[in-house]
Amino acid sequence: MNILIVDDIATNRKLLRVMLEAEGHIALEAADGVKALQILARETADAVISDILMPNMDGYRLCREIRKSDSLRHLPIIIYTATYTSPGDEKLALEVGADKYLKKPAAIATIAAALDEVLAMPHAAPRRAVLEEVEVLKEYSERLVAKLEEKNYELALANLALERSNDELKQFAYIASHDLQTPLRNISGFVQLLQSNYAGALDERANDWIRRTVQSAKQMHALIQDLLAYSRLDTEAQPLLPTPFREVFNDTVALLETTIRDAGGQVTCDELPTVTGDRPQLVQLLQNLIGNGLKYHGQEPPRIHVSVRPSENEWVFSVRDNGIGIAPKHHARIFEIFERLHTQQEYPGTGIGLAVCRRVIHHHGGKIWVESEAGHGSIFNFTIPERATAQP
Ligand code: ADP
Repeated sequence: MNILIVDDIATNRKLLRVMLEAEGHIALEAADGVKALQILARETADAVISDILMPNMDGYRLCREIRKSDSLRHLPIIIYTATYTSPGDEKLALEVGADKYLKKPAAIATIAAALDEVLAMPHAAPRRAVLEEVEVLKEYSERLVAKLEEKNYELALANLALERSNDELKQFAYIASHDLQTPLRNISGFVQLLQSNYAGALDERANDWIRRTVQSAKQMHALIQDLLAYSRLDTEAQPLLPTPFREVFNDTVALLETTIRDAGGQVTCDELPTVTGDRPQLVQLLQNLIGNGLKYHGQEPPRIHVSVRPSENEWVFSVRDNGIGIAPKHHARIFEIFERLHTQQEYPGTGIGLAVCRRVIHHHGGKIWVESEAGHGSIFNFTIPERATAQP
């Protein structure tokens, strides 16, 4: 027998095809109701097995169209669905003209038995009276709304579970980085003791290994500090309040005072507005951006300038430096956590700073991006909405 399989998922069609061919049938395939009708117009099928949820034309509609057609009205139809599984769904399937209703996945024997049953139905017998169009449309939309409500509920549950596991993950990152600090401090302490107490007694190779261990411990300390700062963005977020950005700038420059002096740098700013923000987070943001400007400098001593301009309902801030610049192909990836463009020897760092910036700006409901060419300095821009409200 020729059996037409109608399903938008290719794997489902393939499974049925294998099953039908094993039973000695010939399988035809269509990915939705419209394609099924096209095939039925040119080829002879002895029965249809159709899914319900499909693009273009679903299984209910396909049943209606087949039952309305003079040439196809006697074609046996089995509805085979994984989504529309409530008693109301089954009732509607039978009312619109299906001969049999099966839930996915069904055993081979069940499908084969259903096929035998519908194929054995007297060909010329009048089919079940098909409901009036209005009635069908009413039932049809009710089924659809019920399905949507059910899906919405499932989505809400899944969201809740996701939120919960997200919160647990944040807690975990915080606790793990916090707890790693103590053993690391011990490792650094003992290796430094080894270095100071046995410096003369050890050969050059042993001293070199100690130096490298101290260096690695320092790097790990920096990583843990930055990871803690990253996870604290969630655990210690403050409400967004009016915050004079000039004070954020002053705090940042005070924190970076030694670095600025060591680099022979100059950090300046325009007149800066009061924004709605989380002050400690904004200091972290500016500290990372200005800190990077100081770190990634070229031959010239670093010159960093913070400017601002109003745009539609938001402030656009820019932190401009005269440093080594960044090739455009790297612009998106540097905001990802742990993404770095240099080795520790070239420029030390953890690759977390810009990920922190991005998170801070998203929390304020703004955007952050960079304009730069390799060798021509960088401008890091970010926006803060005039009336920022905290984003999760
Ligand atoms: P880190 O500085 O610890 O590596 P960041 O997340 O702050 O981590 O920066 C990611 C990468 O982006 C850096 O490794 C560097 O290659 C590049 N970068 C960031 N800021 C600048 C800048 N002002 N000038 C040039 N390159 C920069």
